[in-house]
Amino acid sequence: MSDHTENHPAGAAAPAAAVEGVRVRYGAVTALDGVDAEFRGGVTGLLGPNGAGKTTLLSLLSTGRRPDVGTVRVLGEAVRGRAATLRVRERIGVLPQAFGHHPRFTVTEFVEYAAWLRKVPTRERRARVREVLRLVDLERQADQRMGALSGGMLRRAGIAQAMVNRPALVLLDEPTAGLDPAQRVGFRALVRDLGEHTAVVLSTHLAEDVAQVCDHVHVLLDGRMRFTGTAAALCGDRELSGPALEAGYLAVVEQSGVRV
Ligand code: ATP
Repeated sequence: MSDHTENHPAGAAAPAAAVEGVRVRYGAVTALDGVDAEFRGGVTGLLGPNGAGKTTLLSLLSTGRRPDVGTVRVLGEAVRGRAATLRVRERIGVLPQAFGHHPRFTVTEFVEYAAWLRKVPTRERRARVREVLRLVDLERQADQRMGALSGGMLRRAGIAQAMVNRPALVLLDEPTAGLDPAQRVGFRALVRDLGEHTAVVLSTHLAEDVAQVCDHVHVLLDGRMRFTGTAAALCGDRELSGPALEAGYLAVVEQSGVRV
């Protein structure tokens, strides 16, 4: 898996995104406490328990929030000031944990609306929507209403809207949460494919997601980065697998002394 990343064209260049010394507080709660991290080509997992700061870190990368301290760079731009922020937003794709959608919109209308928001030129919109619906295998549901989709299909529609502007960086916040095992398998295959062409950051609390999908992994615990490396390296001497990665993750937790 790590070989795939090393061969990825974006892997050799500047990172798709990076944060340096970022600190975020919500009142008395420190959500991120001096975090440094780079996100390169392929799929990078952001692994950590509930409340570790994963969503907060993704919100920095998606320009939804500014850090109290530290710097955020996305696709070569420092996320600072309105103009840079808007430029970055047009070049990234985001799938939030719970994304809003009008249940009466058809799948096509939902993705078209996202294309309009991301300033995809009007004349290209139709073709782009068809393209992404094909990629996520939702062509047959194109005219179905969003409210009638299964959980797995809804997530795929979420990925479609995140990709409609052909982003160079896609951010997925706990995309497998709430999916049944079969849906999760299908969804992981889709994310792996996506990572062949695009830098993807995927937050999760499931070691299995990381073992199945990710080239690199950052372990975030209690607002601090505790491990950065390949998924294989987190497994130590054992062959890369869900249980091996979980054991590696638990060793990192134990070493950190954080109670999860
Ligand atoms: P989860 O897996 O549960 O989504 P997470 O790893 O994404 O968790 P965050 O949502 O980033 O973690 O939260 C990090 C910490 O910041 C937690 O202690 C959380 O309670 C706190 N927090 C997050 N958002 C807010 C907010 N808007 N106001 C106050 N505290 C917040």
